[in-house]
Amino acid sequence: MAKYATLALIFVTLVGCQAHQGQVVDTLPQPNFNGPLIAQAPPTPALPPVPKYTPPAPSQPQRSLSGPQAWIPQVPPRPWKWIVIHHSASPTGSAAIFDREHKAKGWDGVGYHFVIGNGTNSGNGQVEVTARWPIQKWGAHAKTPDNRFNDYGIGICLVGNFEIERPTAAQMASLEKLVAFLMQRYNIPPERVLRHKDTKSTECPGRNLNIDLVRRAATQIIVNSGGNVEHIAAADATELLTDTPAH
Ligand SMILES: [Zn+2]
Repeated sequence: MAKYATLALIFVTLVGCQAHQGQVVDTLPQPNFNGPLIAQAPPTPALPPVPKYTPPAPSQPQRSLSGPQAWIPQVPPRPWKWIVIHHSASPTGSAAIFDREHKAKGWDGVGYHFVIGNGTNSGNGQVEVTARWPIQKWGAHAKTPDNRFNDYGIGICLVGNFEIERPTAAQMASLEKLVAFLMQRYNIPPERVLRHKDTKSTECPGRNLNIDLVRRAATQIIVNSGGNVEHIAAADATELLTDTPAH
């Protein structure tokens, strides 16, 4: 009823204006009978450009790291093109447990390169480096007909079933830091950071793993670090996520 009353008021106002001040009518907005306009969602802002990684010249001394040395292989890099994220689809687990399970299937050990624990069989947010990574071996985690995601995809598995639960905050912080490190060191753009389900029909890594959040957070970590990949590896994840890090 209030709507009709408003319309009636507008009508009366219009008539009144026409009767006494006709020239003002043209400046009034046309009444709108189509209901309120729904505001358009603002466009998603573009990701900032990622600084390109330049490996140190061979003549330069390698800096020693206080962070996870195991992230940095001592053999020439495989030409990685993708990062593929998985969940274990189990409430518990660790790299050692998945290694036993995968060997029982006749595989050559755990198929991922990294496992991020949830506090059950390894630490909450602990990044375990599997035996594949130091020797830069192909993965066994994302089989497709041409096998490109196994051949050139870095496999990261988070312990948990993210169809029914959420990754822990510590797992997400570690994932974002690890992805930032890998993106920067291997020049992998954010759109090539994939969920397993982006490579084939599967639920993995579950509906509660937000890949867009991972891409954005990892990109921001790289930008905050000025592209200093050694700093990303060495820094505390929470420092990278909350502050501009000191160099
Ligand atoms: Zn998977």
